[in-house]
Amino acid sequence: MVGIVVVSHSDALARGVVALAREMSPPELALEVAGGIGEAGVLGTSAELVGAAIERAMSADGVLVLMDLGSALMSAELAVELLEGASGPVRLSAAPLVEGTVAAAASAGGGATLEQVAAEADGALAMKSAQIGDASAGASGALTAPVASADAEAELAVENELGLHARPAARFVETVGRFDAEVLVARAGSAATPVSARSLTNIVALGARRGDRLRVRSSGPQARAALAALQELAVGGFGDGPPVPTAPPAAGTVLRGVAASRGVAGGDAQPLVPSAPLQSRRDAASPEDERALLERALDGARAAVSADRERLRARAGAGEAEIFDAHLALLDDEALLEPARAAIGSGAPAELAIADAAEQLAAVYRRLENPLLAERATDVLDVGRRIVAAVTADCGPSEPKQNDNDSQYRILVADELTPSQTAGLDRERIAGIATARGSATAHAAIIARALGIPAVVGLGESILAVPAGTRLLLDGTGGTVTIAPADRAGAEQAVADAEARSERGRAQAAAAREHAHQPALLAGGEQIEIFANAGSLADAQLAVECGAEGVGLLRTEFLFLGRAELPGEDEQAETLRQIAVALGGRPLIVRTLDAGADKPLPALALAAETNPFLGVRGIRVGLRNPELLAAQLRAVLRVAAEHPLKLMLPMVATVAEVVAVRELLEQARAQTGVTVGIELGIMVEVPAAALMAAELAPHVDFFSLGTNDLTQYTMAAERGNAQLEPLLAEPQPAVLRLVRATVAAADAHGRWVGVCGELAGDPAAAVLLTGLGVSELSMAPRLIPEVKQALRGLELGRARAAAALALEATSAEGARAHGLELLSGSLRAARR
Ligand code: PEP
Ligand code: MG
Repeated sequence: MVGIVVVSHSDALARGVVALAREMSPPELALEVAGGIGEAGVLGTSAELVGAAIERAMSADGVLVLMDLGSALMSAELAVELLEGASGPVRLSAAPLVEGTVAAAASAGGGATLEQVAAEADGALAMKSAQIGDASAGASGALTAPVASADAEAELAVENELGLHARPAARFVETVGRFDAEVLVARAGSAATPVSARSLTNIVALGARRGDRLRVRSSGPQARAALAALQELAVGGFGDGPPVPTAPPAAGTVLRGVAASRGVAGGDAQPLVPSAPLQSRRDAASPEDERALLERALDGARAAVSADRERLRARAGAGEAEIFDAHLALLDDEALLEPARAAIGSGAPAELAIADAAEQLAAVYRRLENPLLAERATDVLDVGRRIVAAVTADCGPSEPKQNDNDSQYRILVADELTPSQTAGLDRERIAGIATARGSATAHAAIIARALGIPAVVGLGESILAVPAGTRLLLDGTGGTVTIAPADRAGAEQAVADAEARSERGRAQAAAAREHAHQPALLAGGEQIEIFANAGSLADAQLAVECGAEGVGLLRTEFLFLGRAELPGEDEQAETLRQIAVALGGRPLIVRTLDAGADKPLPALALAAETNPFLGVRGIRVGLRNPELLAAQLRAVLRVAAEHPLKLMLPMVATVAEVVAVRELLEQARAQTGVTVGIELGIMVEVPAAALMAAELAPHVDFFSLGTNDLTQYTMAAERGNAQLEPLLAEPQPAVLRLVRATVAAADAHGRWVGVCGELAGDPAAAVLLTGLGVSELSMAPRLIPEVKQALRGLELGRARAAAALALEATSAEGARAHGLELLSGSLRAARR
């Protein structure tokens, strides 16, 4: 197999390119890096390193060397000159580094010769050009195919969700490479010349999407075997997983998903009619006419989004309606429009051009590591569909409409709902939402909550196999859907009970809001401080409105998320000052930057890591960038001179980290001349910190448990991974034990303990945390009234007893049940 060497000034870049190419090539392919000059973080190239990499990659088939620029070329040339007695040929490639390496790796992995691999790399830009519709840069040598008479022919269905994007395309090429056969491929129904399937560029440039069919012709000694292997690959979704052959779940089956919007609902399943796959249904008019059509469609889409925004504002309030402001911004986003206009310029009809552009942009979002940002892919597709609908309404028959004549109360069943679909639901007819995919933080879920429609998402494909009209019982609080419950009368009663409960819940919530500004005093007069988590000035203002007694966690990284550069000390101090002023003298706990993993900061170039959640994040970033941390410490100190501020460090795992920050804090004091004392606390979100709390306590003034991360690290389950929802369900007894350990150590040293993870805002968990000795709970502002209400009048002795039982529980559900039981008892007592 031909080996490949990637030469770059940056070791990190070279490794990143190789990691990408690895995704698309067999493990035995020799892919070597020669990045930097051998000193960590120093940019440059070294002929010696290049030579060593070539030797490692060498085989009798030879080595292709790809380079970034400038001295990389000279180093590579020198390395080749200095090579002594190489056992195979070496060729330097002028191909673009990333595209060239990926294409070359796929081709080499398929057994191509050095010549072919080099040609494939040279043509690699065409893959990108074709995708963004840049016809001028399109065809390359790699795109032409020899005409051959076919020995075998077949049609393959593309059924994987994202179509033939780079990875499935690489598997296509790799499969063909295993056979002595010439394979040509084209989209079925397309007039384009079939292209050779030995080229990754060719396959990606087909632009095949879900629902498309590929016409494959194979010739040569192993023509049929190659076709059979490709057919098998297609059935398996080209390695992305097979299209799910789902049988309808049996009556009585309870499907588990993610609880996305509270409440219980009963009704008949109503599958959402999926949009028809977007084949080109008409020939494009002239590019001018298509462009004009697109512009009119954009106006139409703007009007439709604005109408939805106003409707949602009227039904649910301004906050949720802002989701559609983001959609309006997308309608003007060049990242969406520019590729669409370019495709129109190349002869595509407007609806296909915009649909493609939306798919591509959505794919970019999906690849983002931050799960919240990745979810925005659904918003992009939603906006894309609006535009397509507006184009088709303008120039032909529109998409089929829902059959909504009959007015029965229903549970809407869908793969995933978009924000616009959710906002358009008629609460009078739709009792609940059950979807195969989605998450509780997606915009559609936020809207469902705002509209009060119970919803369970992430139920898996089997929900889609439920026949229309099947009776469903949906529990949006527990996250389950029961298919055709055997005890139908019982199910109807469950819905009636749930409705009565939610009516009571509404009354209780109203009462809680009325008392939101009073403290949460336990039966014995002990006060649990109820604080808010905030990430902006608006949050701080909302916190005060909701009855917060302070901010227990200011996520400073959220203040800087959208910035290309981090603000300086003065600007940071000004932002903190505004937040402190909004709190009107209430305490403000400022957490230093918690960047990394799910919170990448564009302003901070963090190196790519295999396991970002276990990598350089939180305080580890600050200690590696002491200037950055010091500026933040100075800003905090300056505001602390006038307002009650405390400082908190994220992701602390060792005593040494706290000692190092204390030193920086002392230096910052000297630099600012601020003499007032400031409490320094740490987040306990790494199990090590909980277990070492006794050793940490002498160095800190308080502890705040970050149960989101603490649960993630204790259960070894990445937060935000919907598949691991059961492991992430709270409160895990193992996490409660770490809370107990932290409180015990803190008590022994006279330190206080708070909780600022999501657990603090769950009333059932809040009473357990109180029983464990936590004295401050910090949560999303809107949860404050309910949590205060749950704690008021609670007997500490009973809370301790419930907590002791929860510690011994064998599951999160079991632990929570002890909190719920205590709550229902205390609510009954309160009503008496
Ligand atoms: C936590 O991990 O619980 C926490 C509050 O921090 P964040 O959610 O910001 O990581
Ligand atoms: Mg955290």
